[in-house]
Amino acid sequence: MAQLNEKEGSIVSYCPSCRGGRSTFEWKIGSQEIGAHERREEDLNWRDCVVSYRLFKCAGCGMGAFGVVKMGGGGNYPGAYNRLIKFFPETKQRLSIPSSVPQGIVTEFREAETCLENQCLRAAAGLIRSVLDKTLRANGYKTKQEYNLYKQIEAAAEDGVITQSRKRRAHDEIRVLGNDVLHDDWHEIPAEDVEAARHYCQRILEDFYDDRESVLTLLREAGRTPEEDRKVEASE
Ligand SMILES: [Zn+2]
Repeated sequence: MAQLNEKEGSIVSYCPSCRGGRSTFEWKIGSQEIGAHERREEDLNWRDCVVSYRLFKCAGCGMGAFGVVKMGGGGNYPGAYNRLIKFFPETKQRLSIPSSVPQGIVTEFREAETCLENQCLRAAAGLIRSVLDKTLRANGYKTKQEYNLYKQIEAAAEDGVITQSRKRRAHDEIRVLGNDVLHDDWHEIPAEDVEAARHYCQRILEDFYDDRESVLTLLREAGRTPEEDRKVEASE
């Protein structure tokens, strides 16, 4: 995700023209500002808000880019109260996930990543929780006894499919964050928390699907009915 250097006004991002390499995007050439259009806009949190629609240039390859920066505190660029809202173009960072992950879960995970890179943080957190929920369901953890996500995570750790430390991360980083979005009053959530949730979600997908055959054995020994076995039952 692109990051604004508030002090310098430059943006650090992954440049598509530098083969996805991390690069600094500058807003000046020498002492000359490349260009920006700014206007006063309404904002829920900041009474005195100016939005800057600003052009940038990659310090590595010279490619142009466009950023939208919300400015509090009178609207100085650069400034300590400036926040990056949008930045294009940016190379998409996609975490690798095992090839045996079911398509519906892959799609949900990728949509969460798309939300994250578009600053839709609450949507991303909700979808990451949904990935965890769907993964546990696909592995036979949605039962009469394990009717909620809390119990399903506990059961997966009990069966040894995920480690105790992963269990704690699943609760703290994914379930609690996602529940905040689904059940609490609206409030902002930090991008770092959603980023952490994405990483732990990837690791949980690896736990379940990297060595699928071993996990299937473990699940069957624990009396679970993973999706693979349900398909067989249905076709018999
Ligand atoms: Zn570049």
